[in-house]
Amino acid sequence: MTEKNMIGWDQDADGIVTLTMDDPDASANTMNELFGTSLAATIDRLEKDKDSFTGVVITSAKKTFFAGGNLQMLMAVKPEDAKEFTERVDLMKSYFRRLETLGKPVVAAINGAALGGGYEIALACHHRVLQDVKGAEVGLPEVTLGLLPGGGGVTRTVRLLGIQSALLNVLLQGQRHKPAKALELGLVDEIASDRDDLLAKAKAWAKANPAAVQPWDVKGYKIPGGTPSSPAFAANLPAFPSNLKKQLKGAPMPAPRNIMAAAVEGAQVDIDTATKIETRYLFDVASGQVSTNMIKAFFFDLQAINKGGSRPDGYQPWTSKKVLVLGAGMMGAGIAYSAARSGIEVVLKDVSLEAAEKGKAYSEKILGKAVSRGQLTQEKADEVLARITPTDKAADGAGADLIVEAVFESADLKKKVFAEVEHVVAPDALLGSNTSTLPITGLAEGVRRQADFIGIHFFSPVDKMPLVEIIAGEKTSDAAVAKAVDFTLQIKKTPIVVNDSRGFFTSRVIGTFINEAVAMVGEGVAPSSIEQATTQAGYPVGALALMDELTFTLPRKIREETKAAVEAAGGKWTPHPAEVVLDKLIDEYDRKGRSTGAGFYDYVDGKKAGLWPGLKDAFKSGTAEIPFQDMQERMLFAEALETVKCFDEGVLRTIPDANIGSIFGIGFPPWTGGVIQYINQYEGGLTGFAGRAKELADRYGERFNPPQSLVEKAERGESYE
Ligand code: NAD
Repeated sequence: MTEKNMIGWDQDADGIVTLTMDDPDASANTMNELFGTSLAATIDRLEKDKDSFTGVVITSAKKTFFAGGNLQMLMAVKPEDAKEFTERVDLMKSYFRRLETLGKPVVAAINGAALGGGYEIALACHHRVLQDVKGAEVGLPEVTLGLLPGGGGVTRTVRLLGIQSALLNVLLQGQRHKPAKALELGLVDEIASDRDDLLAKAKAWAKANPAAVQPWDVKGYKIPGGTPSSPAFAANLPAFPSNLKKQLKGAPMPAPRNIMAAAVEGAQVDIDTATKIETRYLFDVASGQVSTNMIKAFFFDLQAINKGGSRPDGYQPWTSKKVLVLGAGMMGAGIAYSAARSGIEVVLKDVSLEAAEKGKAYSEKILGKAVSRGQLTQEKADEVLARITPTDKAADGAGADLIVEAVFESADLKKKVFAEVEHVVAPDALLGSNTSTLPITGLAEGVRRQADFIGIHFFSPVDKMPLVEIIAGEKTSDAAVAKAVDFTLQIKKTPIVVNDSRGFFTSRVIGTFINEAVAMVGEGVAPSSIEQATTQAGYPVGALALMDELTFTLPRKIREETKAAVEAAGGKWTPHPAEVVLDKLIDEYDRKGRSTGAGFYDYVDGKKAGLWPGLKDAFKSGTAEIPFQDMQERMLFAEALETVKCFDEGVLRTIPDANIGSIFGIGFPPWTGGVIQYINQYEGGLTGFAGRAKELADRYGERFNPPQSLVEKAERGESYE
């Protein structure tokens, strides 16, 4: 019996062998065991039968070329697996090396996406042709999963493009490049229009280049742009790690550092040694916790969400055709753009035509930029713009199947605008509000069809921020939730679904993080240390800078409303030490945040100009010292504990929603894998986390005491799955 082989072999009359990858047990080809054995057998045969063919074309029978590494396996790698892991990876890479030194031309006919391991196969070919088909893209996105391209990706991109271009355009940010850009960067050599053209071009190249070898196997080859041993390059080298440090702001992200080290060290040795160095750096990140966290969040959690994990079952898929956006301010303008960009007709209504047109002009600006960067044709940009109708008349919303309301944050105004348009739109239109703070159940009382009323909470700036928080009020139907999820996916954003609560999930949780930073100012901790602790924990901006952006009067207003609601329900309001700090800044110093030109920072011409020196006198800054780890963990724990409370109160429905929502919506550090994974992966697991929370409670206040549900889960030896 012959062994199973997922790589088909087909030799044509000209002697070109087409190898077609087609995993019989999966919808995409991946680096699983079958691929390993198939590749080994294929390489053996290529070497044995070398005299009977003239060239090789590698392609795939799937929609994509090759999906990449086996992430389940990579997540499971432990420090004690060093020998076995290294041998396995090096063996796979030895096949790639044998392929490129076969002595016959080998061409990659890339018929769809080739990312990660898929593109590494293509890199081991002498020539790359990419079919310009929907979804076609190439790149090495490993860094976004806390990994590095260890299948020759670092070693070969450095040799193909030079160290600098490889790091900046491919490796350090893991960009995925569409055909035109891939060609421009030199990641592929030719573009094909369809499958026939793809194979024809690949075969033609093989025929024309019977003695093909890799550039790096030609005597006298030099890495483009030089290596650390060339003086011009060496002069620039010190800037590399310092730029990276600036970019990472001290966040604990090992992958970019390892990628840079593998690229620079590998450039100074021969290719076989370089690939070994690369394997060592791959093992280092693969066996660490950060890659496990990031693979879990950015692959598995995200996949669960995009497959509709939070979408109620049993409802037909829905697509919106016409949306009425109420309010053409900052948010409304962005929402209109995102919807129009995805092919939906948009009516953008404001109080005056002028205001509505100003909202539309925002799309014009973004589209203009995309055209000038070559990301979009003028024709496509015009099509998008033509879909947005600015207006001051409710009647133009006739027949809309969805309303997204984004007027000022006032419950009375929101109720009023819904009353104006409710009878104009389609009788079963979904009624969405983009409120960031007002409870959905209360707002729903303003409409007749409360089951169709829902929160569709976007983040600013809408065109860049991927998350949408969908909020179900008490009376919102599952059908409405399903529609809102479908709409969010239709406009290529990521939906999480939560139940109504003050601040929903995202605003409620981010508030606890900012509160800790503000409270520390009040305790006399140096504000610059607080900012440093924040960014070094992996948050994108300092907590005090973020507070300035949000404006101090907003949390005070929310606090007063929440306090009144708690007391009206017979509860007791527990003040947070951050409150007196903000009150003092507002009332005694007239500092209210960036929009007023004065917050924790000073602003000159709207630009941040350093922390306000007056903080020193106002709060005796610098007189208190808190261990750096405590500063960071007060922020991280505050958010994690609030998230557990959100689960306890039924606000959150799924763990992927919590993890992805925290990273995509409120800047929770990506290296953690999200706010719940942060608890799972804490040293000692849930028991370790609960113990540390108690320690923080003893030092800084009862709010850090772990909720009972967490303590019980820890006692059962479980984690959040
Ligand atoms: P904004 O002040 O920029 O825009 C509000 C717009 O609503 C203005 O153009 C105003 O003219 C218009 N408007 C007022 N009354 C109207 C009416 N009767 N009919 C039609 N339009 C009317 O405000 P924004 O920042 O875009 O926020 C809008 C909503 O989105 C608020 O509910 C806010 O809480 C929420 N939100 C804001 C953010 C943010 O970061 N700014 C994030 C998420 C949600």
